[in-house]
Amino acid sequence: MGMEDGYPRADLRTSGDSRRSTSDPDLSVDRLRMAQRRFHIMAKPGGSRCNLDCQYCYYLSKGALHDGPGIGRMSDEVLERFIQQYIEGVTGDEVVFSWQGGEPTLLGLDFFNKVVELEGKYARPGQIVHNDLQTNGMLLDEEWCEFLKENQWLVGLSIDGPRELHDAYRVDKKGESTFDQVMSAAMMLKGHNIPFNTLTCVNRLNAKHPLEVYRFLRQELDSTYIQFIPIVEYREFESKALNTLDPERLPKDGTPEARPGLPNSVVTEWSVDPYDYGSFLSRVFDEWYKYDVGKVLVNHFETLVAQHLNLPAQLCIYNEFCGRGLVVEHEGSVYSCDHFVYPEYLLGSVMDRSINEMVRSEAQIRFGQDKGDMLPGQCRMCAYLKDCWGECPKNRIIRTRDGEPGLNYLCRGLKRYFAHATPKAEKIAAGLRQKSFDPRQRMPGR
Ligand code: SF4
Ligand code: SF4
Repeated sequence: MGMEDGYPRADLRTSGDSRRSTSDPDLSVDRLRMAQRRFHIMAKPGGSRCNLDCQYCYYLSKGALHDGPGIGRMSDEVLERFIQQYIEGVTGDEVVFSWQGGEPTLLGLDFFNKVVELEGKYARPGQIVHNDLQTNGMLLDEEWCEFLKENQWLVGLSIDGPRELHDAYRVDKKGESTFDQVMSAAMMLKGHNIPFNTLTCVNRLNAKHPLEVYRFLRQELDSTYIQFIPIVEYREFESKALNTLDPERLPKDGTPEARPGLPNSVVTEWSVDPYDYGSFLSRVFDEWYKYDVGKVLVNHFETLVAQHLNLPAQLCIYNEFCGRGLVVEHEGSVYSCDHFVYPEYLLGSVMDRSINEMVRSEAQIRFGQDKGDMLPGQCRMCAYLKDCWGECPKNRIIRTRDGEPGLNYLCRGLKRYFAHATPKAEKIAAGLRQKSFDPRQRMPGR
Protein backbone atom coordinates (compact mmCIF):
# COMPACT_ATOMS: atom_id res chain seq x y z
CA MET A 1 0.00 0.00 0.00
CA GLY A 2 2.72 2.41 1.00
CA MET A 3 2.73 5.38 -1.30
CA GLU A 4 -0.90 6.15 -0.84
CA ASP A 5 -0.30 6.43 2.87
CA GLY A 6 1.87 9.31 2.13
CA TYR A 7 -0.79 11.69 1.11
CA PRO A 8 -3.07 13.49 3.41
CA ARG A 9 -6.46 12.19 4.31
CA ALA A 10 -9.23 14.61 3.58
CA ASP A 11 -9.13 16.97 6.50
CA LEU A 12 -12.71 17.99 7.02
CA ARG A 13 -12.25 19.26 10.50
CA THR A 14 -10.22 22.37 9.82
CA SER A 15 -11.10 25.88 10.75
CA GLY A 16 -10.35 29.33 9.43
CA ASP A 17 -10.08 30.96 6.07
CA SER A 18 -7.52 29.20 3.95
CA ARG A 19 -7.73 31.83 1.23
CA ARG A 20 -6.20 34.52 3.39
CA SER A 21 -2.86 36.02 2.42
CA THR A 22 0.39 35.33 4.28
CA SER A 23 1.29 38.98 4.59
CA ASP A 24 0.94 39.21 8.39
CA PRO A 25 3.36 36.72 9.97
CA ASP A 26 2.17 37.17 13.58
CA LEU A 27 -1.39 36.61 12.55
CA SER A 28 -0.29 33.50 10.67
CA VAL A 29 1.35 32.03 13.77
CA ASP A 30 -1.69 32.77 15.92
CA ARG A 31 -4.01 31.24 13.41
CA LEU A 32 -1.76 28.26 13.04
CA ARG A 33 -1.75 27.72 16.77
CA MET A 34 -5.53 27.93 16.78
CA ALA A 35 -5.81 25.58 13.84
CA GLN A 36 -3.48 23.08 15.48
CA ARG A 37 -5.96 22.60 18.25
CA ARG A 38 -7.59 20.45 15.63
CA PHE A 39 -5.12 17.90 14.49
CA HIS A 40 -5.02 14.38 13.22
CA ILE A 41 -2.50 11.61 13.75
CA MET A 42 -2.15 8.78 11.31
CA ALA A 43 -0.97 5.56 12.94
CA LYS A 44 1.41 3.10 11.29
CA PRO A 45 1.33 0.26 13.77
CA GLY A 46 3.25 -2.13 11.53
CA GLY A 47 5.64 0.41 10.04
CA SER A 48 6.51 -0.23 6.42
CA ARG A 49 5.65 -3.95 6.48
CA CYS A 50 3.55 -4.86 3.45
CA ASN A 51 2.42 -7.92 1.53
CA LEU A 52 2.64 -6.17 -1.84
CA ASP A 53 5.57 -4.77 -3.74
CA CYS A 54 4.15 -1.74 -5.51
CA GLN A 55 6.88 -0.24 -7.59
CA TYR A 56 6.06 3.32 -6.61
CA CYS A 57 5.94 2.69 -2.88
CA TYR A 58 8.11 5.24 -1.13
CA TYR A 59 7.29 3.72 2.20
CA LEU A 60 8.79 0.28 1.66
CA SER A 61 12.10 1.97 1.06
CA LYS A 62 11.90 3.60 4.46
CA GLY A 63 12.53 0.20 5.97
CA ALA A 64 16.07 0.65 4.72
CA LEU A 65 16.52 4.35 5.51
CA HIS A 66 19.14 5.01 8.11
CA ASP A 67 17.52 6.23 11.35
CA GLY A 68 14.04 5.44 10.02
CA PRO A 69 11.42 3.56 12.03
CA GLY A 70 11.57 0.53 9.70
CA ILE A 71 9.40 -2.51 10.16
CA GLY A 72 7.94 -3.56 13.46
CA ARG A 73 4.79 -4.12 15.46
CA MET A 74 3.33 -1.63 17.87
CA SER A 75 3.53 -3.09 21.36
CA ASP A 76 0.51 -3.13 23.66
CA GLU A 77 2.21 -0.56 25.84
CA VAL A 78 2.81 1.91 22.98
CA LEU A 79 -0.67 1.29 21.59
CA GLU A 80 -2.35 2.06 24.90
CA ARG A 81 -0.27 5.16 25.47
CA PHE A 82 -1.01 6.42 21.96
CA ILE A 83 -4.75 5.85 22.21
CA GLN A 84 -4.96 7.41 25.65
CA GLN A 85 -2.91 10.44 24.65
CA TYR A 86 -4.63 11.00 21.34
CA ILE A 87 -8.08 10.89 22.90
CA GLU A 88 -6.96 13.23 25.67
CA GLY A 89 -5.37 15.60 23.16
CA VAL A 90 -8.41 15.92 20.95
CA THR A 91 -10.64 18.53 22.49
CA GLY A 92 -13.73 17.98 20.36
CA ASP A 93 -16.59 15.53 20.59
CA GLU A 94 -15.20 13.44 17.80
CA VAL A 95 -11.91 11.64 17.45
CA VAL A 96 -10.74 9.90 14.29
CA PHE A 97 -8.14 7.17 14.26
CA SER A 98 -6.57 6.31 10.90
CA TRP A 99 -4.74 3.02 10.65
CA GLN A 100 -2.32 2.77 7.79
CA GLY A 101 0.90 1.10 6.74
CA GLY A 102 2.61 -0.67 5.03
CA GLU A 103 -0.40 -2.90 5.23
CA PRO A 104 -2.12 -2.67 8.62
CA THR A 105 -4.21 -5.84 8.25
CA LEU A 106 -0.96 -7.81 8.53
CA LEU A 107 -1.14 -7.10 12.25
CA GLY A 108 -4.18 -9.35 12.50
CA LEU A 109 -7.59 -8.93 14.07
CA ASP A 110 -6.30 -9.47 17.61
CA PHE A 111 -4.41 -6.21 17.34
CA PHE A 112 -7.47 -4.29 16.16
CA ASN A 113 -9.77 -5.87 18.74
CA LYS A 114 -7.34 -4.49 21.29
CA VAL A 115 -7.61 -1.09 19.60
CA VAL A 116 -11.39 -1.11 20.00
CA GLU A 117 -11.12 -2.18 23.62
CA LEU A 118 -8.65 0.62 24.43
CA GLU A 119 -10.69 3.24 22.61
CA GLY A 120 -13.68 2.21 24.74
CA LYS A 121 -11.57 2.47 27.86
CA TYR A 122 -10.36 6.01 27.20
CA ALA A 123 -13.16 7.72 25.25
CA ARG A 124 -14.83 10.47 27.24
CA PRO A 125 -18.57 10.25 27.82
CA GLY A 126 -20.34 11.48 24.72
CA GLN A 127 -17.20 11.43 22.60
CA ILE A 128 -17.56 9.65 19.27
CA VAL A 129 -14.63 7.57 18.14
CA HIS A 130 -14.25 6.83 14.42
CA ASN A 131 -11.76 4.52 12.79
CA ASP A 132 -10.49 4.44 9.20
CA LEU A 133 -8.48 1.58 7.80
CA GLN A 134 -6.47 2.00 4.60
CA THR A 135 -5.83 -1.36 2.99
CA ASN A 136 -4.79 -3.07 -0.22
CA GLY A 137 -7.60 -5.57 0.45
CA MET A 138 -5.47 -8.71 0.09
CA LEU A 139 -6.28 -10.09 3.53
CA LEU A 140 -9.90 -9.05 3.85
CA ASP A 141 -12.13 -12.04 4.55
CA GLU A 142 -15.44 -12.80 6.25
CA GLU A 143 -13.97 -12.38 9.71
CA TRP A 144 -12.47 -9.00 8.84
CA CYS A 145 -15.74 -7.86 7.30
CA GLU A 146 -17.65 -8.82 10.44
CA PHE A 147 -15.20 -6.81 12.52
CA LEU A 148 -15.39 -3.77 10.24
CA LYS A 149 -19.16 -3.92 10.11
CA GLU A 150 -19.67 -4.44 13.80
CA ASN A 151 -17.36 -1.60 14.76
CA GLN A 152 -18.45 0.67 11.91
CA TRP A 153 -14.95 1.21 10.57
CA LEU A 154 -14.54 2.99 7.28
CA VAL A 155 -12.32 1.40 4.70
CA GLY A 156 -10.07 2.97 2.12
CA LEU A 157 -9.34 0.51 -0.66
CA SER A 158 -6.34 1.05 -2.91
CA ILE A 159 -6.99 0.44 -6.59
CA ASP A 160 -5.37 2.11 -9.57
CA GLY A 161 -7.98 1.50 -12.28
CA PRO A 162 -9.04 -1.39 -14.50
CA ARG A 163 -6.92 -4.54 -14.63
CA GLU A 164 -4.09 -3.48 -16.97
CA LEU A 165 -3.64 -0.13 -15.27
CA HIS A 166 -3.91 -1.51 -11.74
CA ASP A 167 -1.48 -4.36 -12.39
CA ALA A 168 1.11 -2.13 -14.02
CA TYR A 169 2.58 -1.24 -10.64
CA ARG A 170 0.49 -2.83 -7.89
CA VAL A 171 1.94 -6.30 -7.82
CA ASP A 172 2.61 -8.85 -5.11
CA LYS A 173 5.99 -9.98 -3.85
CA LYS A 174 6.31 -12.33 -6.82
CA GLY A 175 5.56 -9.52 -9.23
CA GLU A 176 2.14 -10.97 -10.01
CA SER A 177 -1.27 -9.41 -10.54
CA THR A 178 -3.36 -8.31 -7.54
CA PHE A 179 -6.38 -7.06 -9.48
CA ASP A 180 -8.67 -10.05 -8.86
CA GLN A 181 -7.96 -9.99 -5.15
CA VAL A 182 -8.71 -6.31 -4.75
CA MET A 183 -11.90 -6.69 -6.76
CA SER A 184 -13.02 -9.57 -4.61
CA ALA A 185 -12.25 -7.47 -1.50
CA ALA A 186 -14.44 -4.70 -2.94
CA MET A 187 -17.28 -7.16 -3.62
CA MET A 188 -16.98 -8.56 -0.12
CA LEU A 189 -17.18 -5.08 1.41
CA LYS A 190 -20.21 -4.32 -0.73
CA GLY A 191 -21.82 -7.62 0.23
CA HIS A 192 -21.51 -6.65 3.90
CA ASN A 193 -22.66 -3.07 3.30
CA ILE A 194 -19.39 -1.72 4.63
CA PRO A 195 -18.75 1.80 3.33
CA PHE A 196 -15.47 2.17 1.53
CA ASN A 197 -13.72 4.80 -0.49
CA THR A 198 -11.27 4.17 -3.26
CA LEU A 199 -7.78 5.51 -3.38
CA THR A 200 -6.08 5.71 -6.74
CA CYS A 201 -2.45 6.61 -7.22
CA VAL A 202 -2.12 8.67 -10.38
CA ASN A 203 1.10 7.48 -11.97
CA ARG A 204 2.86 7.88 -15.29
CA LEU A 205 0.70 5.27 -16.98
CA ASN A 206 -2.85 5.62 -15.67
CA ALA A 207 -2.62 9.44 -15.88
CA LYS A 208 -2.90 8.98 -19.64
CA HIS A 209 -6.29 7.27 -19.23
CA PRO A 210 -8.37 9.62 -17.08
CA LEU A 211 -11.82 8.62 -18.26
CA GLU A 212 -11.03 4.93 -18.27
CA VAL A 213 -9.92 5.20 -14.64
CA TYR A 214 -12.79 7.38 -13.49
CA ARG A 215 -15.50 5.40 -15.29
CA PHE A 216 -14.09 2.18 -13.92
CA LEU A 217 -14.25 3.54 -10.38
CA ARG A 218 -17.75 4.87 -10.90
CA GLN A 219 -19.28 2.11 -12.97
CA GLU A 220 -17.45 -1.07 -11.97
CA LEU A 221 -16.88 -0.28 -8.32
CA ASP A 222 -19.70 2.17 -7.78
CA SER A 223 -17.30 4.27 -5.74
CA THR A 224 -18.79 7.46 -4.39
CA TYR A 225 -15.72 8.55 -2.43
CA ILE A 226 -12.81 8.86 -4.79
CA GLN A 227 -9.35 9.93 -3.82
CA PHE A 228 -6.60 10.63 -6.32
CA ILE A 229 -3.01 10.91 -5.23
CA PRO A 230 -0.22 11.86 -7.63
CA ILE A 231 2.89 9.71 -7.63
CA VAL A 232 5.88 12.02 -7.41
CA GLU A 233 9.13 10.46 -6.30
CA TYR A 234 12.46 12.15 -6.73
CA ARG A 235 14.97 9.83 -8.28
CA GLU A 236 17.04 9.11 -5.19
CA PHE A 237 14.10 8.61 -2.88
CA GLU A 238 15.25 5.16 -1.80
CA SER A 239 18.54 6.34 -0.39
CA LYS A 240 18.34 10.07 0.25
CA ALA A 241 16.09 12.11 2.50
CA LEU A 242 14.13 14.81 0.73
CA ASN A 243 15.70 17.56 2.78
CA THR A 244 19.23 16.60 1.69
CA LEU A 245 18.68 17.41 -2.00
CA ASP A 246 21.00 20.12 -3.30
CA PRO A 247 18.72 22.96 -4.53
CA GLU A 248 21.34 24.13 -7.03
CA ARG A 249 21.22 20.80 -8.82
CA LEU A 250 17.45 20.67 -9.22
CA PRO A 251 16.16 21.13 -12.78
CA LYS A 252 14.36 24.28 -13.86
CA ASP A 253 10.69 24.40 -14.72
CA GLY A 254 10.06 23.63 -18.37
CA THR A 255 13.25 21.61 -18.91
CA PRO A 256 13.12 17.94 -20.00
CA GLU A 257 14.72 16.90 -16.69
CA ALA A 258 11.72 18.33 -14.85
CA ARG A 259 9.63 15.55 -16.42
CA PRO A 260 9.95 11.78 -16.07
CA GLY A 261 11.51 9.47 -18.65
CA LEU A 262 15.13 10.62 -18.97
CA PRO A 263 18.09 9.00 -17.20
CA ASN A 264 18.70 12.30 -15.43
CA SER A 265 15.05 13.21 -14.75
CA VAL A 266 14.43 14.55 -11.28
CA VAL A 267 11.83 11.85 -10.65
CA THR A 268 11.50 8.10 -11.07
CA GLU A 269 10.16 6.82 -14.37
CA TRP A 270 6.83 5.80 -12.83
CA SER A 271 6.18 9.30 -11.44
CA VAL A 272 3.28 11.09 -13.10
CA ASP A 273 4.19 13.56 -15.82
CA PRO A 274 3.07 17.02 -14.62
CA TYR A 275 1.34 17.80 -17.92
CA ASP A 276 -0.55 14.49 -17.85
CA TYR A 277 -1.54 15.15 -14.27
CA GLY A 278 -3.13 18.45 -15.29
CA SER A 279 -5.02 16.76 -18.14
CA PHE A 280 -6.05 13.90 -15.90
CA LEU A 281 -7.61 16.16 -13.26
CA SER A 282 -9.19 18.40 -15.91
CA ARG A 283 -10.81 15.58 -17.86
CA VAL A 284 -12.05 13.80 -14.77
CA PHE A 285 -13.35 17.12 -13.49
CA ASP A 286 -15.43 17.57 -16.65
CA GLU A 287 -16.91 14.11 -16.34
CA TRP A 288 -17.68 14.68 -12.67
CA TYR A 289 -19.15 18.11 -13.41
CA LYS A 290 -21.39 16.68 -16.09
CA TYR A 291 -22.72 13.67 -14.22
CA ASP A 292 -21.65 13.42 -10.62
CA VAL A 293 -21.67 16.73 -8.75
CA GLY A 294 -23.42 16.11 -5.44
CA LYS A 295 -23.34 12.36 -5.97
CA VAL A 296 -19.65 11.55 -5.92
CA LEU A 297 -17.00 13.07 -3.69
CA VAL A 298 -13.66 13.49 -5.41
CA ASN A 299 -11.06 14.79 -2.98
CA HIS A 300 -9.53 17.47 -5.23
CA PHE A 301 -12.85 18.79 -6.51
CA GLU A 302 -14.56 18.96 -3.12
CA THR A 303 -11.63 20.95 -1.86
CA LEU A 304 -11.66 23.34 -4.79
CA VAL A 305 -15.36 24.05 -4.36
CA ALA A 306 -14.96 24.42 -0.59
CA GLN A 307 -12.17 26.94 -1.08
CA HIS A 308 -14.36 28.92 -3.44
CA LEU A 309 -16.93 29.02 -0.67
CA ASN A 310 -14.22 30.54 1.53
CA LEU A 311 -14.05 27.36 3.54
CA PRO A 312 -10.83 25.61 4.51
CA ALA A 313 -9.14 23.22 2.14
CA GLN A 314 -10.15 19.66 2.87
CA LEU A 315 -6.78 18.38 1.70
CA CYS A 316 -3.70 19.69 3.45
CA ILE A 317 -1.83 19.90 0.14
CA TYR A 318 -4.07 22.82 -0.81
CA ASN A 319 -3.89 24.47 2.57
CA GLU A 320 -1.76 27.43 3.44
CA PHE A 321 -0.15 25.60 6.34
CA CYS A 322 1.09 22.15 7.16
CA GLY A 323 1.36 20.79 10.66
CA ARG A 324 -2.00 19.29 11.56
CA GLY A 325 -1.47 15.83 10.15
CA LEU A 326 1.16 14.01 12.16
CA VAL A 327 2.19 10.40 12.09
CA VAL A 328 2.94 7.92 14.87
CA GLU A 329 5.19 5.01 13.99
CA HIS A 330 5.10 1.53 15.47
CA GLU A 331 7.69 2.22 18.18
CA GLY A 332 5.83 5.34 19.35
CA SER A 333 7.85 8.03 17.61
CA VAL A 334 5.84 10.97 16.32
CA TYR A 335 6.90 12.91 13.22
CA SER A 336 5.69 16.20 11.73
CA CYS A 337 4.12 14.50 8.72
CA ASP A 338 4.05 11.13 7.05
CA HIS A 339 6.24 12.55 4.30
CA PHE A 340 8.85 13.82 6.67
CA VAL A 341 9.74 10.76 8.67
CA TYR A 342 13.35 11.85 9.06
CA PRO A 343 15.31 12.55 12.24
CA GLU A 344 15.02 16.32 11.74
CA TYR A 345 11.25 16.07 11.98
CA LEU A 346 11.04 13.76 14.96
CA LEU A 347 8.93 15.46 17.63
CA GLY A 348 9.29 12.84 20.35
CA SER A 349 7.76 9.59 21.49
CA VAL A 350 4.32 9.00 22.92
CA MET A 351 6.11 7.16 25.71
CA ASP A 352 7.81 10.22 27.08
CA ARG A 353 6.16 13.34 25.64
CA SER A 354 2.52 14.28 25.38
CA ILE A 355 0.99 14.43 21.92
CA ASN A 356 -0.52 17.78 22.84
CA GLU A 357 2.90 19.18 23.58
CA MET A 358 4.30 17.80 20.33
CA VAL A 359 1.48 19.23 18.21
CA ARG A 360 1.94 22.65 19.77
CA SER A 361 5.74 22.58 19.86
CA GLU A 362 7.78 25.33 18.22
CA ALA A 363 9.23 22.73 15.84
CA GLN A 364 5.80 21.73 14.63
CA ILE A 365 4.59 25.32 14.35
CA ARG A 366 7.69 26.07 12.29
CA PHE A 367 7.10 23.05 10.12
CA GLY A 368 3.54 24.19 9.53
CA GLN A 369 4.49 27.73 8.68
CA ASP A 370 7.33 26.79 6.35
CA LYS A 371 4.81 25.72 3.75
CA GLY A 372 3.82 29.33 3.09
CA ASP A 373 7.13 30.94 4.00
CA MET A 374 9.15 28.84 1.57
CA LEU A 375 7.00 29.58 -1.47
CA PRO A 376 8.99 30.88 -4.42
CA GLY A 377 8.10 34.23 -5.99
CA GLN A 378 6.40 32.45 -8.88
CA CYS A 379 3.82 30.99 -6.49
CA ARG A 380 3.31 34.26 -4.65
CA MET A 381 2.46 35.93 -7.96
CA CYS A 382 0.35 33.03 -9.21
CA ALA A 383 -3.32 33.55 -10.02
CA TYR A 384 -4.09 30.24 -8.33
CA LEU A 385 -2.11 30.78 -5.14
CA LYS A 386 -5.19 30.57 -2.93
CA ASP A 387 -6.35 27.35 -4.55
CA CYS A 388 -2.94 25.72 -4.53
CA TRP A 389 -0.57 27.18 -1.96
CA GLY A 390 2.29 25.49 -3.75
CA GLU A 391 0.74 22.05 -3.13
CA CYS A 392 2.71 19.65 -0.93
CA PRO A 393 6.25 20.65 0.09
CA LYS A 394 7.40 17.09 -0.56
CA ASN A 395 6.86 17.75 -4.27
CA ARG A 396 8.81 21.02 -4.39
CA ILE A 397 11.74 19.51 -6.16
CA ILE A 398 12.33 21.81 -9.14
CA ARG A 399 13.40 25.42 -9.62
CA THR A 400 11.55 28.26 -11.29
CA ARG A 401 12.72 29.35 -14.72
CA ASP A 402 14.85 32.06 -13.12
CA GLY A 403 16.49 29.55 -10.78
CA GLU A 404 14.62 29.98 -7.51
CA PRO A 405 14.29 26.63 -5.68
CA GLY A 406 11.11 25.34 -4.08
CA LEU A 407 8.78 25.13 -7.07
CA ASN A 408 6.37 22.22 -7.13
CA TYR A 409 7.16 19.53 -9.67
CA LEU A 410 3.45 19.38 -10.54
CA CYS A 411 3.14 23.15 -11.09
CA ARG A 412 2.47 23.04 -14.83
CA GLY A 413 -0.23 20.45 -14.39
CA LEU A 414 -1.74 22.21 -11.40
CA LYS A 415 -1.97 25.48 -13.33
CA ARG A 416 -3.67 23.71 -16.19
CA TYR A 417 -6.14 22.04 -13.85
CA PHE A 418 -6.94 25.23 -11.92
CA ALA A 419 -7.34 27.24 -15.13
CA HIS A 420 -9.73 24.63 -16.42
CA ALA A 421 -11.72 23.85 -13.29
CA THR A 422 -11.96 27.04 -11.26
CA PRO A 423 -14.65 28.76 -13.39
CA LYS A 424 -16.93 25.74 -13.00
CA ALA A 425 -16.00 25.29 -9.34
CA GLU A 426 -16.99 28.92 -8.87
CA LYS A 427 -20.35 28.21 -10.51
CA ILE A 428 -20.96 25.25 -8.19
CA ALA A 429 -19.98 27.42 -5.24
CA ALA A 430 -22.34 30.17 -6.38
CA GLY A 431 -25.17 27.65 -6.56
CA LEU A 432 -24.37 26.31 -3.12
CA ARG A 433 -24.32 29.79 -1.61
CA GLN A 434 -27.99 30.00 -2.49
CA LYS A 435 -28.74 26.88 -0.46
CA SER A 436 -27.88 25.92 3.06
CA PHE A 437 -24.95 23.65 2.49
CA ASP A 438 -22.66 21.80 4.82
CA PRO A 439 -19.59 20.61 2.93
CA ARG A 440 -18.06 19.17 6.08
CA GLN A 441 -19.07 15.68 5.25
CA ARG A 442 -16.66 13.06 6.25
CA MET A 443 -14.48 11.54 3.60
CA PRO A 444 -12.99 8.37 5.02
CA GLY A 445 -9.42 7.29 4.54
CA ARG A 446 -7.00 9.38 2.57
S1 SF4 B 1 4.00 18.08 3.93
FE1 SF4 B 1 2.24 19.36 4.39
S2 SF4 B 1 0.97 19.36 2.55
FE2 SF4 B 1 2.42 17.63 2.39
S3 SF4 B 1 1.28 15.88 3.25
FE3 SF4 B 1 2.49 16.78 4.94
S4 SF4 B 1 1.07 18.22 5.94
FE4 SF4 B 1 0.21 17.75 3.89
S1 SF4 C 1 0.02 26.53 -9.64
FE1 SF4 C 1 2.28 26.47 -9.59
S2 SF4 C 1 2.91 28.65 -9.35
FE2 SF4 C 1 0.71 28.50 -8.83
S3 SF4 C 1 0.73 28.26 -6.58
FE3 SF4 C 1 0.62 26.19 -7.51
S4 SF4 C 1 2.74 25.51 -7.63
FE4 SF4 C 1 2.80 27.72 -7.31
